[in-house]
Amino acid sequence: MARVTFTHITKRFADGTQAIRDLSLSVEDGELMVLLGPSGCGKSTLLRMLAGLEAPSSGEIRIDEALVNHLSPRQRNIAMVFQNYALYPHMSVAENLAFPLKMQGMARDKIRSRVRAVAERLSLSALLDRQPKALSGGQRQRVAMGRALVREPKVFLMDEPLSNLDAELRLQIRQDIARLQRDTAITTLYVTHDQVEAMTLGRRIAVLKQGELQQLGSAHELYGRPANTFVAGFIGSPGMNIFETPLRHDGHGYGVVVAGQSVSLRGAPYAEADLASFAGQTLQAGVRPEGLHLSAGEEKNAHGIEVTLSGVERLGHEVIVHFPAINRSGDSLAEHSARLAYQDGLQIGDEISLSLAVEDLYLFDPSGSALPRFE
Ligand code: ATP
Repeated sequence: MARVTFTHITKRFADGTQAIRDLSLSVEDGELMVLLGPSGCGKSTLLRMLAGLEAPSSGEIRIDEALVNHLSPRQRNIAMVFQNYALYPHMSVAENLAFPLKMQGMARDKIRSRVRAVAERLSLSALLDRQPKALSGGQRQRVAMGRALVREPKVFLMDEPLSNLDAELRLQIRQDIARLQRDTAITTLYVTHDQVEAMTLGRRIAVLKQGELQQLGSAHELYGRPANTFVAGFIGSPGMNIFETPLRHDGHGYGVVVAGQSVSLRGAPYAEADLASFAGQTLQAGVRPEGLHLSAGEEKNAHGIEVTLSGVERLGHEVIVHFPAINRSGDSLAEHSARLAYQDGLQIGDEISLSLAVEDLYLFDPSGSALPRFE
């Protein structure tokens, strides 16, 4: 059992690449924390520093109270599972599981009982005599987890362990990992770029971008109260639509412009004083795809926006429609999207009216940080 603390960690590689910038983070004893972020954001580097495979340029890493910066990987008692399982191909499952214990010089009887217990826990008992090549991808992954677990590590690190598996197997093993972690209560740091995996596995998720911690919170917090436009756009599928907008006062109250339409902020979950401090500036307004609805016939909502569809994705129970995002110079940028109740009729090129409720609007300051929002 262990608590892991990163304090002001920075990592600069020899070629000048800054992979981690002043990152502070605590993983509680027995917690499964997920590190989430796009490719290159520094997730693996952070894990490798905890494992002792890279040294931080500055800052402290502690396991419980002990500073581990200068300890070798072996002294840290950390187990790591990667996306390529790295099983020994010429050894049986039992020998693969036993290998780390043999290396420690553990007595044979003890090894046998540990291997048996781990095999049982991971439903590998019937496969102990097989070689890795005679196992399915999911079974290999379970052996890799077993081999990490058998050492009874203080901390378990997983770096995209599911990325070689197909969708169905990913779902199943995700549940196996969640159960295993709950049962063993081994402090676990799990790295992924897949937000669904992150949201379903971690009670807390740390979102990273370019080596910087953007937000730490539950799936619900990241979705409902994103700290900035990056988290808003990254969490959710598709992510939040962001519109650049002036913030104006029309004599009655503040308003923004969303997809070319004026939207009054009366009733929005923002304090008048906070809005006043940004009056006249260019803000960013966000609305989730599920915050946009098809306006009913002629009765256009006060906050209706007119869009021309550039894409229609029909899923069984809903339709995701896309429309071009236009910046101030009139250039079309990436696409925005709306998640609508299922219907057959919509086609690319259709002009439709979408409505949005002002409570579903999010505001971000010019630097992209969220304005404080009421509950
Ligand atoms: P991915 O999901 O693609 O594995 P990641 O979030 O795990 O990405 P890292 O592998 O931690 O990202 O890399 C972070 C940054 O550090 C990247 O810009 C990467 O190119 C750089 N980097 C990683 N290792 C080295 C190295 N040994 N020397 C120089 N730069 C490196």
